[in-house]
Amino acid sequence: VRRHLSVNALSKRPDGIVDIDRDACIGCRACMQACPYDALYLNENHGAVEKCHYCAHRVEKGLEPACVIVCPEQAIISGDLNDPRSRISQMVRDGQTLLRRTEQGTGPNVHYKGVEAAALDPGAPERPSMYLWSDRPPQKKESWPISLASVEEHARGARCGAPCGVGLAGGAVPGHQGNRRRGGDAGALRLEAGPDRVRRAVRPGALAIIFTAATAGLLIEDLKRPSLFYRLLTRPNWKSWLVKGGIILGAFGGCSTLVVLLAMLGMDGAAQSLRWAEAVLGLAAAGYTAFLFAQCKGRDLWESKLLLPHLLVQAAACGGAALAPFATERWRLGWIIVVGVLAHAAIAAYERFTRHATTNANQAAAFLGTVRLGPFQPCGMG
Ligand code: SF4
Ligand code: SF4
Repeated sequence: VRRHLSVNALSKRPDGIVDIDRDACIGCRACMQACPYDALYLNENHGAVEKCHYCAHRVEKGLEPACVIVCPEQAIISGDLNDPRSRISQMVRDGQTLLRRTEQGTGPNVHYKGVEAAALDPGAPERPSMYLWSDRPPQKKESWPISLASVEEHARGARCGAPCGVGLAGGAVPGHQGNRRRGGDAGALRLEAGPDRVRRAVRPGALAIIFTAATAGLLIEDLKRPSLFYRLLTRPNWKSWLVKGGIILGAFGGCSTLVVLLAMLGMDGAAQSLRWAEAVLGLAAAGYTAFLFAQCKGRDLWESKLLLPHLLVQAAACGGAALAPFATERWRLGWIIVVGVLAHAAIAAYERFTRHATTNANQAAAFLGTVRLGPFQPCGMG
């Protein structure tokens, strides 16, 4: 989670407790995507994220956490895992405990004893065809189609029983992603813009600036405390791709603006040479989200290694379509659009039908077959 934080609001104290500075949090919720345990939640009243802080105020005084004290069954046991004499260390050493989501490499320190595996894995329980006291109404839409395999069924190698509908990996991408693709790609694809390219760079350049500004606006508006967005620059966590992405978007928008200004001033040579830098920044703007999502340890399918090429071919197709009205040699953009759409479909199908590294990712891929495409109802919904 720490790598994914945008403004250093979360920190690990010397005693190992992960604590949050609520006043510093801007409510971007990136940490909620990064945590595979759903341990963080948004306090809507404060517009900031909160979490269990292991009763740091009590631990500092040598007291046990409040939930340990209040539990009448001693069902919660706290202690120092680094102390081999502590009760918790002995239990872990004896192999009596289970951990959640070890495949994510987060090294969790919360151990579970004597629980059903299904209790630790939200996707594992079977979904019977009826409720406890009644049948499922056929017209009621289930958030989790019963035709999709459970985690345990995936682990056994069972395929999803649903015939595939249309798989769109983009379905998991936030709404502003489309703008970023068009904004990012407008610069990258402008190199195809024909012989009078510098003068005609003004209109597609303006398009790039508009979409990039819209993307930045949506990203800021999406923060729970948008007035604090400047903290991404004043107290950045440089390991976070949220911060790096903000810098990339800013650089791309600035570069596009400069190219347009140079072209308008008739400095065609300078504008033309800057367009190569703009093209590289355009690709970075279109693709940085893949690195951001790779930090999301709570969203397995987003960690796919194919996400970067997938975003780039989507950007090529969307950018080509957005730039087509400004191009003289439209057949070139037409080819880019066709190849981009075919590559997108091929990658989406590959993601849908191949096995992934974790059962959660397999389950998420099965959901791709339920994505609606306009008026078309995918077949095989539960
Ligand atoms: S600023 Fe964002 S990543 Fe940091 S704690 Fe707040 S919501 Fe989480
Ligand atoms: S009472 Fe328990 S769950 Fe609540 S903050 Fe303290 S340690 Fe965390």
